[in-house]
Amino acid sequence: MTTTETRDGMTLGRKPHPVSGGPIVQLPTAFGDFVAQAWTDLATGAEHLAVSSPLPPVDGQAPLVRLHSECLTGDVFGSYRCDCGEQLAYALEMINEFGGTLLYLRGQEGRGIGLANKMKAYALQEAGFDTVEANEQLGLPVDARCYKAAAQILAELGLNEIRLLSNNPDKQDRLAQAGVKVVEMVPTEVPSREQNLRYLQTKKDRMDHLLVLDVEPAASAGQGRGRFEHEQD
Ligand SMILES: [Zn+2]
Repeated sequence: MTTTETRDGMTLGRKPHPVSGGPIVQLPTAFGDFVAQAWTDLATGAEHLAVSSPLPPVDGQAPLVRLHSECLTGDVFGSYRCDCGEQLAYALEMINEFGGTLLYLRGQEGRGIGLANKMKAYALQEAGFDTVEANEQLGLPVDARCYKAAAQILAELGLNEIRLLSNNPDKQDRLAQAGVKVVEMVPTEVPSREQNLRYLQTKKDRMDHLLVLDVEPAASAGQGRGRFEHEQD
């Protein structure tokens, strides 16, 4: 951790993480009409995408912001092993309605361990390990994601005070360390499924996510090892 932590999460003395923004273009989607801008992390080469509502937030509120870590299986294929695809759709619907920005952070697959390692972790989960234990078995960090580029992109977009669409208090803390003030956490919980219940339970129990799971975990007990579960967010 090289970020200079300061009182109240302010950025005194913080060195900006180098990022470069491209042109702003129209992006009509199934979720509404947005504008999009690619941002390159000049330290890592990762290319991220900011997808924003074209209008300012309603009622003068702080803009909604979702930091969405790339999840190929969930976002593109609609995998039920995690809730990423549904969270992405929910966030875009909310931002379309209330105003804000979704930052799609690439290179963060599987909480930063990469696609191939995520698949290895899936295999371990099918052998009975939970999402945290699987990463530990692989000798990989439970969460390797870095939010410095994200915070810098938000700063350059003028989004210094935000309402964060997330259930993950760690994101709020890390953004504060990087100089972005989260004035409100807006939950993004989507319905749990049998296939992702153990994964969501692990996020709640072992990563302090603020989830109120609507299915008792006992519902999946007694069905043997290897309930589907994976990485992310
Ligand atoms: Zn996912």
